Amino acid sequence: MAMTADRIHQTHPFLDGRPKRMLIDGKWVEAASGKTFDSINPATGEVLAQVAEGDAEDIRRAVAAARRAFDGSWSKWKPYERQQVLLKLADLVEQHIDDLTMLDTLDMGAPITRMRGGRRRAIGMLRYYAGMATSIHGETIENSLPGEIFSYTLKEPVGVVGAIIPWNGPLTAAIWKVGPALATGCTIVLKPAEEAPLTALRFAELALEAGVPEGVINVVPGYGETAGAALAAHMDVDKVAFTGSHLTGQKIIQASAGNLKRVSLELGGKSPDIVFADADMESTVSGAAMAVFSNSGQICSAGTRLFVERKVYEEFVGRVAEFGKKLKVGNGVDPEVQIGPLVSEQQLDRVTGYLDIGKREGARAMSGGERLKGAEYDRGYFVPPTVFADVRDDMKIAQEEIFGPVISAIPFTDLDEVIGRANATLFGLGSGVWTRDVSKAHRLAKGIRAGSVWVNCYQAMDPAVPFGGYKMSGYGRESGLQQLEEYLNVKAVWIKTA
Ligand code: ADP
Repeated sequence: MAMTADRIHQTHPFLDGRPKRMLIDGKWVEAASGKTFDSINPATGEVLAQVAEGDAEDIRRAVAAARRAFDGSWSKWKPYERQQVLLKLADLVEQHIDDLTMLDTLDMGAPITRMRGGRRRAIGMLRYYAGMATSIHGETIENSLPGEIFSYTLKEPVGVVGAIIPWNGPLTAAIWKVGPALATGCTIVLKPAEEAPLTALRFAELALEAGVPEGVINVVPGYGETAGAALAAHMDVDKVAFTGSHLTGQKIIQASAGNLKRVSLELGGKSPDIVFADADMESTVSGAAMAVFSNSGQICSAGTRLFVERKVYEEFVGRVAEFGKKLKVGNGVDPEVQIGPLVSEQQLDRVTGYLDIGKREGARAMSGGERLKGAEYDRGYFVPPTVFADVRDDMKIAQEEIFGPVISAIPFTDLDEVIGRANATLFGLGSGVWTRDVSKAHRLAKGIRAGSVWVNCYQAMDPAVPFGGYKMSGYGRESGLQQLEEYLNVKAVWIKTA
């Protein structure tokens, strides 16, 4: 049962008991409707804060502010000046990183050790985008027309960006959208997820402190079907950058049709993680386990279809299950905890629903398999690391994204066979290969249809390396030089000189 905000234990400077407002045009304002919603700590069920609940009217105001800012003085800012503001923001994020990561932990449950582990990446992303701000350039291109006509390209910011983000890594998700927008000179309306809106709001406070002009960043918390849908459909939004489920991604594309706005989508997956008998077993057990159990499986590229070469299948899967049993599950504020709760009751229902389906389909739960019960767990949404053995390719738990700490372990015998089976999915986001044989590694790296292939590691991420999907895992890339292109238009200029 949720507690009221005034009863919250004061665990964080941002959680001062006051309702959290939204940021429009550089001002912190209530929703036009006056409505708020509760942001809940999934480890305890406590209300952390009441948050302004934006809907279509707030989106309208925020987009208008973003348009004014885009057309106004922001467009005159030099790359160096945008770089300076990004560097200042990076410094402020670094200065406040403990509070920001703790806010992530409180709002969505991930263990504080995980969030702190991501600090280098979060700050590094901002500094990478700062570098990019002064690296944008067009090209001169020789043409074959008669006479003297000079042709070149200009790279221009795409305009007003609507960014819709999920809850599974609030700080990095916000930086992943705001960073490229600032680097390229776009303006942005950011809609954080209703499950975890707080870090984006705190991050926006720091952006203002860093000197981001009013209207350049607007943050409108609210529900997907109202605020999110209004942003995706808005006729004056030039691009939507979306991260979330493939079903919502399809709705975003439909909503974008009105003005044919540009869309980039980072969606879900059912990523194959392939273990050969020749792999180093010790590191592969922990690597394959954490490819799924990290963040309680709430990672779009989690390696949830664990293909294991048949001759080591029983032993390997048993060891992964034992590894999972030893992980400490609990409230993520405890630095000893390795696995936090799921983000919400809805997510708990969804994941436990899949646990039931798996058992009904005939899979064998080698560890976990049920919601955790007991005083420490009852008020939160805890599911232990679960390993299902005897999974067949046609089972639901081998095909659908569960978004929980659930491994579906499947045996295989030969390399070509496993490539075909790994690719027999609607998705193509991540993938893993564990082997000491470099030729197998290369063949799989080429054969797997996915945006990332991790060999003898999983989930490595870096601001400079592109990340994104094949097939129904979406299109467009985040991080790397490719991401900047998503926020830029290319203009061809022709000048007749003679
Ligand atoms: P998840 O299942 O991971 O919560 P969603 O795709 O439902 O994934 O949510 C990701 C983000 O998309 C959230 O910010 C959510 O509010 C938003 N969202 C959900 N439905 C819609 C929609 N119809 N239009 C636009 N945004 C939406």
